[in-house]
Amino acid sequence: MSRIVITGGAGFLGSHLCDALLADDHEIVAIDNLVTGRVGNIEHLVGTDNFQFVRQDVTDYLWVPGDVDIVLHFASPASPIDYLEIPIQTLKVGSLGTHNALGLAKDKGARFFLASTSEVYGDPEVHPQTEGYWGNVNPVGVRGCYDEAKRFAEAMTMAYHRVHGVDIRIARIFNTYGPRMRPNDGRVVSTFLTQSLSSKPITVFGDGTQTRSFCYVDDLIEGILALLWSDHAGPVNVGNPAEHTMLELAEVVQQVTHRDSPIDYQGLPVDDPTRRRPDISLLTSISGWTPSTGLVEGLTTTAQWLEAEMD
Ligand code: UDP
Repeated sequence: MSRIVITGGAGFLGSHLCDALLADDHEIVAIDNLVTGRVGNIEHLVGTDNFQFVRQDVTDYLWVPGDVDIVLHFASPASPIDYLEIPIQTLKVGSLGTHNALGLAKDKGARFFLASTSEVYGDPEVHPQTEGYWGNVNPVGVRGCYDEAKRFAEAMTMAYHRVHGVDIRIARIFNTYGPRMRPNDGRVVSTFLTQSLSSKPITVFGDGTQTRSFCYVDDLIEGILALLWSDHAGPVNVGNPAEHTMLELAEVVQQVTHRDSPIDYQGLPVDDPTRRRPDISLLTSISGWTPSTGLVEGLTTTAQWLEAEMD
């Protein structure tokens, strides 16, 4: 049994990690400032054995009393509309927050796990994206606050590994969906499902030929844990390589919601990546992990959850 600190523990991924690690008998200290995280994601855990919630902004000095074996750093806005609304906080949590979380791990002699992102590849010129690709990011564009914060976080994590010998893992997480996404978080899966369930038009940006590769949250969490318990120190892609255009996604959403929602074409956001697909052979070779949930199955479960939320 390990004592594990999870920053962003009330967020979409952080709260699923709390559940998975508590189920494996670990002790969890979840830290979150609730800017994009939600108490509702963890309220079933509050008051249970082995779980503690601390409301704190990790860009402020971070201290946790007692032994800590692992620090999972998942605090950050992760949806484009969130990080476009709070770009400075996004930069701060990726830089100062990562520095503080690394400092905690170093002091405790703990393993440090960084939640990085496929956004480090920007609008990729290499397809599918392998970990060796350095990316194509516009540092001064509107998405730069997130992309560069995560690139800085990776660089800082590697520096702590090289200089201080901190045991590190870095996951480059690709588009993920599932229960506990906020219905209004602006990400494409929650937006399309919410629109279709409300019998509203589905807002496809651009001509809808841009692609993403969507991973169901349960698969993603398994991949994160496979990497955590591996001995690979360095960036590793985690995601589902099944690639779809946004128009294909809209069709599957219509199918699982049993609605014939019309498509409402809108302008493409600035610097929107044209395509994205992870090469996951590294994580598969390290751990044997591969995702198993198909899009129809995952979207059906997510639609049921969002419908209940909307009620
Ligand atoms: N998108 C869309 N309609 C929406 C929201 C998003 O067509 O209402 C598109 C967006 O332009 C992008 C893709 O869906 O090409 C994925 O967007 P998301 O915000 O989910 O994440 P990203 O991968 O861009 O970070």
